[in-house]
Amino acid sequence: MFVKLTSSFEVIDARFRKLALPYIHVERLYTGCRWAEGPAWFAAGRYLVWSDIPNDRVMRWDETDGSVSVFRQPALNSNGHTVDLQGRLISCEHGGRCVSRTEHDGSRTVLASHVHGQRLNSPNDVVVKSDGSIWFSDPSYGIDSDYEGAAAPSEIGEQRVYRIDADSAAISVVASDFVQPNGLAFSPDESLLYIVDTGATHQVDGPHHVRCFRVGANGALAGGEVFATCPVGLYDGLRVDVHGNLWLSAGDGVHCHAPDGALLGKVLIPESVSNLCFGGAKRNRMFICGTTSLYSVYLNTRGQ
Ligand code: MG
Repeated sequence: MFVKLTSSFEVIDARFRKLALPYIHVERLYTGCRWAEGPAWFAAGRYLVWSDIPNDRVMRWDETDGSVSVFRQPALNSNGHTVDLQGRLISCEHGGRCVSRTEHDGSRTVLASHVHGQRLNSPNDVVVKSDGSIWFSDPSYGIDSDYEGAAAPSEIGEQRVYRIDADSAAISVVASDFVQPNGLAFSPDESLLYIVDTGATHQVDGPHHVRCFRVGANGALAGGEVFATCPVGLYDGLRVDVHGNLWLSAGDGVHCHAPDGALLGKVLIPESVSNLCFGGAKRNRMFICGTTSLYSVYLNTRGQ
């Protein structure tokens, strides 16, 4: 006999009961964004940053007192964020059409802006591998209109996934068979890379799924079969926990899939979710960007 979970959760597979605890509710930490995206947790400072793309600002939520402030504005319409191995903020900039790094002294370094002499479209989401390489997606959302960036034609004419080498800083194409590549995350042992395709925004019956690639030496990818298809809205961002479960943003919340692909359950959010990340001292608190608001929920697992 199980104690029922609160209405913040939907159990689809009994395995989800080991990942969600009774008596816990989703909390809304902030509201007032136009399109919240790109959360990243800074463990040393005990704060979270996230993007409010149309308002051209990056926000900051402070764990010590729950306060919210503007971290950066203007923000070059930053979208996805992550923190690198040295604790520096990595940003995908629609406005800058680049991936940048905020150094420890606060200065900004552009890590990738062109490929073969052509400007990137609008980097969307980013992840750092344990070898220091930086992997990012480059769909067209930030150049499709002036709402989330600056309208412009694509110089590349494709929407690809790229890798920045940790040693040489060389940028290489790792996947080009996407309509609109979006969120990406490695499995715990980094043998797999999951990449979302949100192509349904641009094609009737277009992709709205996440694919699974095998990661080879020097960043070569193989496979790429569809891992899961989103049943409500679109996947966008995702994170993987220490057990290898995928936590994917969707139209009705965050969907949790086991490494075998089964949908285990959901964290229900009353707005469309764009992205999420794990944080807190134990990395067992999930922060969720849901359209106008920032939410959080404690889980019985940890982000890797
Ligand atoms: Mg995204």
